[in-house]
Amino acid sequence: MTKRPATRYFTVARVLASIGIMMSASAAAFIMGYFLTKWGFAATGAQWPDFARQLLNWFVGSLLMVAAILVFNLFARPKQIEFWGEINGALKRIAKGDFNIVLDREEKFQGQLRDFVDTLNHMAHELKQMETLRQELISNVSHEIQSPLTSIRGFANTLQNDDLSPEDRRHYLSIIETESTRLSKLSDNLLKLTSLESEHQPFEPTPYRLDIQLRNVILACEPQWLEKDLELELDLPETTVVADEELMGQVWTNLIHNAIKFTPPHGSLQLVLEKTESGIRVSITDTGIGISPEDQLRIFERFYKGDKSRTRSITGGGSGLGLAIVKKIIDLHAGSVRVRSQAGVGSTFEVQLPKLPSES
Ligand code: ADP
Repeated sequence: MTKRPATRYFTVARVLASIGIMMSASAAAFIMGYFLTKWGFAATGAQWPDFARQLLNWFVGSLLMVAAILVFNLFARPKQIEFWGEINGALKRIAKGDFNIVLDREEKFQGQLRDFVDTLNHMAHELKQMETLRQELISNVSHEIQSPLTSIRGFANTLQNDDLSPEDRRHYLSIIETESTRLSKLSDNLLKLTSLESEHQPFEPTPYRLDIQLRNVILACEPQWLEKDLELELDLPETTVVADEELMGQVWTNLIHNAIKFTPPHGSLQLVLEKTESGIRVSITDTGIGISPEDQLRIFERFYKGDKSRTRSITGGGSGLGLAIVKKIIDLHAGSVRVRSQAGVGSTFEVQLPKLPSES
């Protein structure tokens, strides 16, 4: 880490001041030594040769210096011991997982010691935030796993009843199948998100035709939009981008699946691809249930599922991870994703990808 000029000047000033204090203290000790020996000779009337007097002056001066250092240490050391004791205690608490640490930035901590205390406080704060996120994640995952498992257990139990009609049996089995798929999708998405958040995610941007990729995703979703009789409007001019094709495929799949999922039958979807000054923009617009302004602020958070009263009947299977994955992938590409929406009217998700140096 490079030091800021102000800090550097402060350090130099402190070293110069220390040298000044030491020189003044030794001069004072030797002056006192001189007057002490002078007084001694006058009082006793002793007549020593010059050289021996100088030697005695030096000896008494040095003795006074040593005494002064000892007295200084007597007061300063307990403070040092107290400081390092506090630091040691704080580090031991951190090691045990207690991050509620805020060391006092008292005046007694100067310069580098104060920087050290600040760094330690900052480290404890960051670790505390990470711990909170970890606990939130565990609680969200447990909650998401719990409801399909409860439902699977309940229906498996009911299926043990021999008096069930074949239709009921088939119905319960299909619920078990749906819930298992939901669990498997949850674990898939969690793995994806963890991999994207780790440093190990392979990120391989290559040039490819984005318009073809978007058409392919729309084709792959054909059964879903046909079933809802959605009208499709595509404006996809030939466009080559440099991006990670596989990851971007995931982005379009999540956004288009949501657009279909949250749009009632006979609605419409619009997909527009445009070149802009700074790169390219893809807009996915639906005439679905829309998203309230409060939800718009949070839908890209992990496990956030929007207003449950409006989406409960639709979200079946969603775990609130799809948009968090989209955001992470777009961040990796240094792009942006935003939503414009009006409850009851529809939503537009807009993805902007920057021009990469090789494209300009
Ligand atoms: P999920 O898998 O639950 O759909 P997402 O992260 O993909 O999770 O979406 C989070 C929430 O955002 C959804 O639960 C829903 O409330 C809202 N949402 C996302 N896309 C749309 C859309 N096109 N129309 C309306 N609401 C949407």
